[in-house]
Amino acid sequence: MFIIYGQRKLRIKRYTEHNERCSHCATFDMTVSVYHGYFHLFFIPFWPISDRTSSIQCNNCGRGARIDSLQYQYERQTRKPFYLYTGLILIGSLVAWIAVANHNTQKEKRAFVLSPRAGDIYTMRHDSANTVQYYFLKVSAVKGDSVMLNHGAYMYTGFVSSPDSKDYFVEDIEYGLTKQALLQMLEEDKINGVTRH
Ligand SMILES: [Zn+2]
Repeated sequence: MFIIYGQRKLRIKRYTEHNERCSHCATFDMTVSVYHGYFHLFFIPFWPISDRTSSIQCNNCGRGARIDSLQYQYERQTRKPFYLYTGLILIGSLVAWIAVANHNTQKEKRAFVLSPRAGDIYTMRHDSANTVQYYFLKVSAVKGDSVMLNHGAYMYTGFVSSPDSKDYFVEDIEYGLTKQALLQMLEEDKINGVTRH
């Protein structure tokens, strides 16, 4: 992947100054611009770098000026804007969002396993010596504490989120599990996901 990154400079504040006189046209009307460098990734500011810099321009004649004490004063009083951290804030929000979404998925999965319904489909994970396989189970009926299940015909060697279009549930063979056994399988990470329509 092609990554664009580097350093850029952004004007973070503009001030109008009426106490200094332009040495070219003698007008008291200057603009002081304060800049801050930042590191960017794909032009999104990630974090501020280097110190503030500034420039002065006369609003009347347009010429630049250099007044160190004045520039220093404005550079010092200008705060670092938070948007120079936009990239970090975006990544932080994304991580938080994924964590919340994952937490909700886990909660929903547990709720579904605790009160199974006919039609629920479990994505099952089966670990053996050095392979991991996946298969599907479908709840055919719930009778009291017993959950009746049909086994999917396919075994998958990689994770799949839903059964293949050619996969089917073998309906003439039913497996019975107690709700407690199901819950234990969930806790042992054998149930990867539950789909309820
Ligand atoms: Zn001027």
